[in-house]
Amino acid sequence: MRLILLGPPGAGKGTQAQKLVERHGIVQLSTGDMLRAAVKAETPIGLKAKSIMDSGELVPDEVVVQIVSERLDEPDCGNGFILDGFPRTVPQAEALDALLERKKLQLDVVIELVVDEDALLDRVKKRAAESGDNVRSDDNADALKKRLDVYRAQTAPLAQFYREKGLLKQVNGMAGIDEVSAEIDRIFADVG
Ligand code: AMP
Repeated sequence: MRLILLGPPGAGKGTQAQKLVERHGIVQLSTGDMLRAAVKAETPIGLKAKSIMDSGELVPDEVVVQIVSERLDEPDCGNGFILDGFPRTVPQAEALDALLERKKLQLDVVIELVVDEDALLDRVKKRAAESGDNVRSDDNADALKKRLDVYRAQTAPLAQFYREKGLLKQVNGMAGIDEVSAEIDRIFADVG
């Protein structure tokens, strides 16, 4: 199964991806996690990305496309993968199409977690409070506001992009974690 999880910050993409990893033996490819690892390791990409990420803006398309393309070539992606936080712009989605075609792979489904924006600030605050010393440097009110603006302007149009390809399924992300994951499992059964 090859899928994209779409949804704003705090929608529960990471939580649902983890559940899918446990149940279906597919890998989670989170560009946010990969970039945070690069920041921590102080690689050239990480050094460039840190201030962009802290401000809530997007790192350049070509940087993330390159990271994802290399990651997809690793053997553990053979069983399928969940793209979490990628693509985030229409050019990234077009680049993904091109690179999947080159690799002779097809997406099975795009699942959008639809959430009420008012709930997101609380969810992200809760995540920050539960993270202790590992709190993300972009989980604060200013960066979150920026991340939501960026989502609305640049990422939300991807729902239409994938609807037109017949790949989009929407799930109510305001439901409880287990309910959302049951709904995702139903979609898997349909698509699979
Ligand atoms: P996330 O963990 O998905 O919320 O991502 C955290 C931050 O990493 C984002 O606010 C961006 O600065 C950066 N980032 C992650 N994925 C992407 C992407 N696909 N395109 C551009 N920037 C990204």
